[in-house]
Amino acid sequence: ARIVIAVDGTSGSGKSSTSRGVADRLGMRYLDTGAMYRAMTWWMLSNDVDVHDADAVAAAAGKPVITSGTDPLAPTIALDGVDVSVEIRSDRVNGAVSPVATVREVRARLIALQQQEIEQALAAGSGIVVEGRDIGTAVWPAAELKLYVTADPAARAARRAAEEGGTDAEAVRASLENRDKIDSTKGGAAVPEGATHIDTTPYTLEEVIDLVVDLAEK
Ligand code: C5P
Repeated sequence: ARIVIAVDGTSGSGKSSTSRGVADRLGMRYLDTGAMYRAMTWWMLSNDVDVHDADAVAAAAGKPVITSGTDPLAPTIALDGVDVSVEIRSDRVNGAVSPVATVREVRARLIALQQQEIEQALAAGSGIVVEGRDIGTAVWPAAELKLYVTADPAARAARRAAEEGGTDAEAVRASLENRDKIDSTKGGAAVPEGATHIDTTPYTLEEVIDLVVDLAEK
């Protein structure tokens, strides 16, 4: 379907797997906006920009060339043409992405890029599932379907630890909670108007995907 599905919520809620699964089932594109904030952050770290200096981050925000591959089965993210899918999941990026994402110039640039990706998908006749923190509020408020996906903290930490290859769930939980705290104080994690709230805690991934596909087909 040639629609936009906006998926907002907390990290570790199953938001990414759900978004990819739904896009695959419905033959839609998939855009991971968190990966774009992570790529921006990796560029700052690689180019010796102090990520806690908002002016320095703002001044550099226009420099990295970020390209997203939107195949839900094989999403990619590149910086200046070089794939950085692995680098953006590092602890260094986990610890630096929230302060970078609070910088207004970073958000303005990435939101504009995200809107371009959505326009391109629609122009090519595809729908797109867009995942992040502010999709239904700032990036694409006209989305035909808006979701707000959460899970209880223990379930989130366990999932993210498994995703990150068996790292310690307690450490992951602390890192997630720290990021959420910074994310929520900058107003980027608001529940979009008209969004359907899904708490994934009691469900399997397949059940959540089924639920969203049903909503999209209504
Ligand atoms: O979703 P993920 O955990 O990969 O996002 C990484 C970080 O990027 C978030 O913690 C948040 O600081 C930032 N982000 C954002 N707005 C988005 C997506 C991600 O601020 N739309």
